[in-house]
Amino acid sequence: MDRLPLIHHRLLIDGERLPAAEGRTHETFNPATEELLAQFALADASDVDLAVRAARRALEAGPWSRATGAERARVLNRLADLLEREREDLVLLESLDAGKPLAATRRQDLPAAIECLRYYAGWADKLAGEVVPARPGALTYVRREPVGVVAAIVPWNFPLMNAVWKIAPALACGCTVVLKPAELTPLSALRLGELALEAGLPAGVLNVIPGLGTEAGQALVEHPGVDKIAFTGSPAVGKRIMATAAARCAKVSLELGGKSASIVLADADFEAAVRASASGIFFNAGQVCSAGSRLFVHRRIHDSFIDALSRRAGRLRMGDTRHAATTLGPLISRAQQQRVLAYVEAGTAEGAQCIQPPGEVPTQGFFVPPTIFAGARNDMRIAREEIFGPVATVIPFDDAEEAVAMANDSAYSLAAGLWTRDVCVAHALAHRLRAGTVWVNTFGPTSSQLPWGGLGGDSGVGRDLGRSALDAYTEPRVVWLQLSP
Ligand code: NAD
Repeated sequence: MDRLPLIHHRLLIDGERLPAAEGRTHETFNPATEELLAQFALADASDVDLAVRAARRALEAGPWSRATGAERARVLNRLADLLEREREDLVLLESLDAGKPLAATRRQDLPAAIECLRYYAGWADKLAGEVVPARPGALTYVRREPVGVVAAIVPWNFPLMNAVWKIAPALACGCTVVLKPAELTPLSALRLGELALEAGLPAGVLNVIPGLGTEAGQALVEHPGVDKIAFTGSPAVGKRIMATAAARCAKVSLELGGKSASIVLADADFEAAVRASASGIFFNAGQVCSAGSRLFVHRRIHDSFIDALSRRAGRLRMGDTRHAATTLGPLISRAQQQRVLAYVEAGTAEGAQCIQPPGEVPTQGFFVPPTIFAGARNDMRIAREEIFGPVATVIPFDDAEEAVAMANDSAYSLAAGLWTRDVCVAHALAHRLRAGTVWVNTFGPTSSQLPWGGLGGDSGVGRDLGRSALDAYTEPRVVWLQLSP
């Protein structure tokens, strides 16, 4: 398939492909070429209501919430099989819709989604409550029940992977789901919904409704039929969602932004640190919540680090994401491109040295060249605010204490990196870095087995992935059976 056929994509509600109630549609474009990819049905509040009601019926009537763990595992594994079968088409779909180089999507997005489905399939028949002997003469035990109807709201930077990070544990736990993908990247989620039906997921268990955040997203968050909101996106929207959910005390988990620091000590493996720092900020054109956008580099190696990082940046090639030579994709939209370019101007105006390697910037598509700010300070806007583009802010330091203090001086707390050959220093500093994940001598890997999330503030609350996500999608419920007076 060279490019997608221009077809009309419909909402998936209660196992049916439906047009939007008001008949509205929206368009999605290839951000690398600005070509129209597809028109899709655009959900509003009435579609949200239909989807939530379908999810509630499916939850209460079964069979999903009453299925055995083994049955749920079988469907999740079958869905993983189907993603493997459709791997190349999904890679293309995701690459075109989200502006990701094909090779990167093949290497990262699809394997991560498949691994996540299989990981939670493995948990589905191992979820157990516990007997807690609270009093003599009583049988007291805790059951672990599905939290209920889950609203999953996800962004555009890893549309399929982020959707699966929420859907896989929710389904493994017996919940039903209404998934709202970002309006900029609805295609892989719609395909995922179709494949889930083919895998044997009963109608209504997974509903997929692309819509605008301020309409469908807001209506979903406000809907009284939703038991839990699982959100990944920006801090501003996350805070608004939390405030809305507070009005009815709905459960919320928020995976929000990042301004991840990576500290390169003078004894670091220089080449490895440069290589990982380059991919840490330029992978997915910097549109990564954990992007290593603040690099603290020991002053002794700062200049040579900048040179080596700039050489790596100079080897990146922008262009059509279908071409094998393309290693740096565009930003998702014109608005995002303008926003990032404004930060580049701000960094220069604040007095950091702006380095952009010479090279062709395509005139079609929303490209921003790889950009490095040398000799920056931690109080500059380019060090404090999430840019979400291929822009590295490099800050020199003189001692590790100072670097840790600057790294922790941030509204964000999602992830951090540390480069040193001294294992004692590595452990000591890793424990002091304020981040949900600290990478030592690497930057960026995640695993379905490990919890992922921030420590509050602009990185959000709660965890995706790992065993932690099972707590997010289940409720402990107590039975106290008095055996003797
Ligand atoms: P965004 O907050 O604008 O949108 C995210 C989703 O929320 C979209 O589906 C959008 O339609 C929806 N939305 C928007 N307004 C809404 C509202 N009022 N009510 C309900 N839903 C609404 O975020 P974005 O710009 O699409 O994504 C980028 C952000 O996501 C960055 O801050 C990034 O760091 C963050 N992110 C975090 C993680 C993580 O794991 N922590 C992963 C990926 C992205």
